Amino acid sequence: MSYALIKRVSTIALPAALLVATQMSLRQIPLLSPVQRELVFLSPYLALAVGLGLSLAFNRGRVFFALLLLGLFHLVTRHYLLIGATGYTPSAIYHCFCFLLPINLLLLSFMAERGIFTHAGRLRMSFIAIQLIAVYWIVRFRVDYSAVPELLSHPIVKSPFLEGLGLPQPAVVLFVVAGVLIAVRVLKRCSPIEVALFGTLIAIGISCDRIAADFTPTLFTAAAAVLLSIGVLQDSHSMAFTDELTALPSRRALNEQIMGLGRRYVVAMIDVDHFKGFNDTYGHDVGDQVLKLVGAKIRLTKGGGKAYRYGGEEFTIIFPGKTVGEVLPHLEELRETIQDYQLKLRGKDRPQEEETGRKRRSEAGGSAETVSVTVSIGVAASGDQRTAPEEALRMADKALYQAKKRGRNQVAVHR
Ligand code: GH3
Ligand code: MG
Ligand code: MG
Repeated sequence: MSYALIKRVSTIALPAALLVATQMSLRQIPLLSPVQRELVFLSPYLALAVGLGLSLAFNRGRVFFALLLLGLFHLVTRHYLLIGATGYTPSAIYHCFCFLLPINLLLLSFMAERGIFTHAGRLRMSFIAIQLIAVYWIVRFRVDYSAVPELLSHPIVKSPFLEGLGLPQPAVVLFVVAGVLIAVRVLKRCSPIEVALFGTLIAIGISCDRIAADFTPTLFTAAAAVLLSIGVLQDSHSMAFTDELTALPSRRALNEQIMGLGRRYVVAMIDVDHFKGFNDTYGHDVGDQVLKLVGAKIRLTKGGGKAYRYGGEEFTIIFPGKTVGEVLPHLEELRETIQDYQLKLRGKDRPQEEETGRKRRSEAGGSAETVSVTVSIGVAASGDQRTAPEEALRMADKALYQAKKRGRNQVAVHR
């Protein structure tokens, strides 16, 4: 199993395990002492405080606003819904929250990250505030609006299963639709924050379904706040280990992997030739596009290697358990692929959608502006003397220097 797959599975498995554990721990509640129960009641506040602190520290707006919504939901549950949604005020509040929470979580999961105290952050904050004011207005001044909770709780179909749920049917539909849409996004991108938002939707759905149960909303609110905190940490971790431009693992990831290398491995250092001149001719933006495309080719190198962006226009490939003889043909192939690759440039009017861009590039055929670059590659093996990985990297760098000196666009092996 590759590390990437393990990471992907754990991103989803950890929140799932936490929700299952929360559900199972509900059974243990009757066994707790009064003091322990008090602590359980405090847990959402603690988890929310930790989550809000983390999202502020890492400037993660989507999580921050999800935690705000969760906190509001918790306060409302504790103050108005302890005995369920009976009477006009609790019923109106309950139905408004059942309606608004899935919509807000869905919107948050589809929004780009724009921070907290930014223009976009202020707009999002205002959006939440407007909803709060609207709910307050309906609850406080429009007692004659009893049609609102009635409308929001009106059964849609006759089904014993749905009638057995605490959640009103229109809310079930909203939660399911929001859940499916977020799940599709999660499966496509597997981003930790979106997984956490999906988990939060489930936790809130269960809480709303059993709103008057003694501990369910409390424990699931705490669980959701923990999920969102974990999401922030996982997201920041993966950002620190991924290069933003090429989406390749970064030098930090390389440093981590070389610690665990076995006895035998090969290191290749790759450097784009005359890249400074290239930038001077075509501009830094075109340079960035080229690095992205070169990075994509390097990622696809065969022979069991793993590619990293070492920094600037330099890349590294590590081939664990291989010899120079085994990897050389693949590196030669990579060098030729890059040399022959005519990079079609995206103009300033580049379309937003990948599909339109692809179509337009193929329509342009040979007439679109193309550029090409070459790379030099230095290779070193661990050999039999158990060379330290840092030393092997230095040797590969020396070989790279040789390749440059001999005229570039070639592979040189450290002897
Ligand atoms: P050589 O063939 O000897 O490697 O020549 P070179 O010009 O590639 O070597 P040098 O190391 O002097 O220049 C590297 C250049 O790469 C400098 C910088 O302008 C460019 N560069 C580094 N990182 C980036 C980046 O992220 N984006 C862009 N566009 N250019 C970068
Ligand atoms: Mg360089
Ligand atoms: Mg260079």
